[in-house]
Amino acid sequence: MLVGILKEIKTAENRVSMTPAGVEVMVQNGHGVLVEKQAGAGSGFDDEAYVKAGAEIAETPAEVFGRADMVMHVKEPLPSEYDLIRPGQIVFTYLHLAAAEELTQALIKSDSICIAYETIQKADGSLPLLTPMSEVAGRMAIQQGAKYLEMAQGGQGVLLGGVPGVDPGTVVVIGGGVVGTNAAKMACGLGAKVYILDMNLDRLRYLNDVMPANCVTMMSSPQTLRKLVKEADVVVGAVLLPGAKAPKLVTKEMLKTMKPGSVLVDVAIDQGGCFETSQATTHSEPIFNVDGVVHYCVANMPGAVAKTSTLALTNATLPYALEIANLGWERALKENQEIRLGANVIKGKVTYNGVAQAFDLDY
Ligand code: NAD
Repeated sequence: MLVGILKEIKTAENRVSMTPAGVEVMVQNGHGVLVEKQAGAGSGFDDEAYVKAGAEIAETPAEVFGRADMVMHVKEPLPSEYDLIRPGQIVFTYLHLAAAEELTQALIKSDSICIAYETIQKADGSLPLLTPMSEVAGRMAIQQGAKYLEMAQGGQGVLLGGVPGVDPGTVVVIGGGVVGTNAAKMACGLGAKVYILDMNLDRLRYLNDVMPANCVTMMSSPQTLRKLVKEADVVVGAVLLPGAKAPKLVTKEMLKTMKPGSVLVDVAIDQGGCFETSQATTHSEPIFNVDGVVHYCVANMPGAVAKTSTLALTNATLPYALEIANLGWERALKENQEIRLGANVIKGKVTYNGVAQAFDLDY
C-alpha cells in the first residue's frame, strides 16, 4: 500500500502523523510512503530524514491525495482538501465528526473510508489514541502551574517544591484519570503537597497504591473541594464525563476564597471546563485573571510541545496504521474490533452511532 503523510495546515499545528522511524517500519513491511514536503519540519524532522528512512517526497497535498491509498493527518481535513479525497481512499486521522457537520457531509460525499483516531477503542473502554495527548497535557499542567506561580507571571511567588525549612506548595488535582494521574505524578516529583480527587472509589484505591506518600487521594465532593481550594496554590481541572460537558466543580464563590496569585489550570476546557470562571485561551494568550486567581485554559495544550506530542501520538498510531496497511481496510475492520470502532464513514455511509445521532443521519 502507498501511505501518504500530509503536512498539517491548521493554524499553529506543528505535529506530523508519521516520523521517519515510522516510515522505516512501513517500508520494512513492504509499503511505500509518500511524505508531503516539509511535513515534519514543525516536529524537528526534515525531508532528508524521511528520504533516508525510505520515503518519497511529494511537492503538494494534491499529489499525496492523488497517489496514496491511505492518507494520514493529525487534525481533520480542512475545506481546501475536501475535493482532493478520492473515492475508496482511506483517511486516517483525528476527525471529531460529532461536532463538525460540514466535514461529515464532505466525507460522506467523498466516498472514502474514514477511520478516526479518537473513536478507536480497546475492549476495556480506553481510547488508545487519545491517551497520549492526555498524558502530555497532564504533565504540562504542572509545568504551567509552576510557571504562573512566579511573580513576574502574575503569580503569588511560590516555589512548588519549597526548599529545606520552607513549606512546599499545595496542588489539588480534580479527576484521577489519565490527565490527573500524570499531573499528580509531576507535582509529586517536584515535592509539592498533592491532593487527587475522583468520584470512582476503585480508581482512588489504585492511585493510593501507586502514588508516592506526598499524594493524598480524596473522594470528590463539593465539601472537600470547598476546603481544599482555599489551601491550594495550583488547582488542575482534569475531569471527564464521557459524552457530556465537564461539570462546573469550582464555583465563583469558591474562587473568592482562594489565595490571590494562585493558579487554576483547566485541562478539561476542551469539554467546556470544570471551573465556573473558565474560558478557552490560546498559546499566544494563555492566561487571564479573575478575583486575583490566574486562569490557564488552553484547549490544545499538546501543541506547545510538538516534538514530544508527535512522538507520543505516533507511538500509538503506528501499529494501527501498519495493520490497516498490511490487511487492507476491509480485513482490518473485520479482524480488529478496535479499528472497526474507529470507522466513522465508509463509502458514503456513517458507521459511527455518535456521529449519525449528532446530525440525524442514517446509520
Ligand atoms: P479520563 O476519563 O481518563 O479521566 C477523567 C476522570 O475524571 C475519571 O477518573 C472520572 O472518574 C473523573 N471524574 C468525573 N467526574 C468527577 C468529579 N465530579 N470529581 C472528580 N473526578 C471526576 O479523562 P482524561 O483523559 O484524563 O481527560 C480529562 C480531560 O482533559 C478531558 O476533558 C479531556 O478532553 C481533556 N484534555 C484536554 C487537553 C487540552 O489540551 N486541554 C488535552 C488532553 C485531554
